[in-house]
Amino acid sequence: MTLESASHYVFERPIRRVAVIGAGPTGLVSARSLLDTGRFEDVVVFERNEGIGGTWVYSPDRDTHTSIPSNHPLTVDPPATLTSSSPPRTPTKSALYASLRTNLPHPVMCFRDDPFHAVALFPGHGEVLQYLKEFAARHGLAGHVRLRSEVVRIVRDSGRWSVTVMEANGRIYKETFDAVMICNGHYYVPYVPEVEGIKRLVEGGTVEVMHSRDYRVPEIFRDKVDVIRFCARLPCSLQGNAYSASDIVREALPFAKRVYQSVRGHQIPAPTPTPTATSTIVNPAQGIDSVAHVRPEIRRFLPPREGYMRGSKGSVEFVDGTVLEEEVEVVVFATGYLFSFPFLADFETPGSGPLVTDGVVVHNLYRHLFFIEDPTLCFVGLPRKVSPLPLSQFQSMLVARVWAGLVKLPGVEEMRRWYEKEMLDEQGKTLGRKVITFGLKIEVAYNNCLLQWIRNGDVGEGEGPDGNGDDKVDGGDKDDGEMRYLDNWWVDMRSKALELRKEVLGL
Ligand SMILES: Cc1cc2nc3c(=O)[nH]c(=O)nc-3n(C[C@H](O)[C@H](O)[C@H](O)COP(=O)(O)OP(=O)(O)OC[C@H]3O[C@@H](n4cnc5c(N)ncnc54)[C@H](O)[C@@H]3O)c2cc1C
Repeated sequence: MTLESASHYVFERPIRRVAVIGAGPTGLVSARSLLDTGRFEDVVVFERNEGIGGTWVYSPDRDTHTSIPSNHPLTVDPPATLTSSSPPRTPTKSALYASLRTNLPHPVMCFRDDPFHAVALFPGHGEVLQYLKEFAARHGLAGHVRLRSEVVRIVRDSGRWSVTVMEANGRIYKETFDAVMICNGHYYVPYVPEVEGIKRLVEGGTVEVMHSRDYRVPEIFRDKVDVIRFCARLPCSLQGNAYSASDIVREALPFAKRVYQSVRGHQIPAPTPTPTATSTIVNPAQGIDSVAHVRPEIRRFLPPREGYMRGSKGSVEFVDGTVLEEEVEVVVFATGYLFSFPFLADFETPGSGPLVTDGVVVHNLYRHLFFIEDPTLCFVGLPRKVSPLPLSQFQSMLVARVWAGLVKLPGVEEMRRWYEKEMLDEQGKTLGRKVITFGLKIEVAYNNCLLQWIRNGDVGEGEGPDGNGDDKVDGGDKDDGEMRYLDNWWVDMRSKALELRKEVLGL
């Protein structure tokens, strides 16, 4: 049972043991924030992979188990079966592709008081991973991380959290914690829409259908007649799919004979080809195009036309009724990702304040962070279209201080009021992904609001500085380290990230 004072939440017991799920950037900075308070007896970070770094651990291998379509988290990413004979689960591979360079300049991307050193303005993934390893070393995190340890179930047990862990060697054990920070990332479970004809396309086996998560190198497109990038059905986020999609199209151009880019509403212009190490093979005489052909959203995939020989591949009809004359050989869906917490499947049952349902948003959270029903459970790093590292640092600094009893959290009624006002429509239905898709202005206001909350010890009435670059934004002092408000130069550079990237990388 939770206790509640008139206006502030009162935790039932002091929080001493904390579990952090995931050792990507968010899990690492969360561990640091918790340890920095000096108030917790034990902070354990569970990581299913062999190393820390999350998304930034590049793997040349791709996942072998992508479901297509993929539109419900608990169906495509089900909870683990927990019997002594269960084989250990294979961790999902990161969505990074070989050539990836960051989409944010590193001074904007880094944790607040831990700059990158001596790297290009838009570093490659190897440099980001190195940065994260150095961050973990500098803040003494290694001793707190348990590698090859997948959290497979989290259930409430007498006011605490029972965490079940499956090690890579198959050993299963349980441990109890007072609080849990979920930092499991959200670029692992692809969203692939149920488009008419897609199952037939996959079953036919003659067309390669994949999600951008599984793309690694452009050689897979060599000599392919047509490559389609499917339109984004969900709003794209700045980190990942929007950039990934354009990068994949651009990388496919020198290899595929023709690249079609299917874009909802025709709003995204075709990328301009840029010289790459592989561009020398572009040879118009061989029928290779140098620009992608932009088409509207796909209505359905068509079976091979009658009279075509066995092994034919089929084609595509778009929503404007046009049909591709040519056959398709590879289809890449860059359609985004689903939130998925298979280890919290018990929360999807009626009456339990569901968390993900269809994977589009996470429900019942106060300020995108605290699970209202029991704020000893927190989700760090959910907002989209943000610079994720600083955002998760602000969030975890707040959660750590709330759990340590240094900062106040409003009572359940107030948290619920905020949730209903900000996250639901008048009929009580979720407003969907748009409310967690921030963009610069909301991102700055949100981050600075969290910091104001930390500094004041209470959330207060206001929503925090508005992020317009006025004097409230740069309210800090250099000596405040990570406790500074976002600096004006940061806001400025963040707003120009796209132009800067084009200028520096030509991408
Ligand atoms: C293609 C791509 C490009 C991107 N480019 C940028 C960029 O340029 N700049 C930028 O700032 N961000 C970028 N991002 C966003 C990126 O996700 C964030 O930088 C960052 O990795 C988010 O950190 P995280 O810790 O929340 O998630 P992740 O990095 O995904 O880490 C989550 C960790 O949790 C672990 N985990 C998951 N489930 C369990 C479990 N049940 N038990 C134990 N461990 C578990 C995972 O193995 C993983 O290590 C990009 C993302 C993608 C996909």
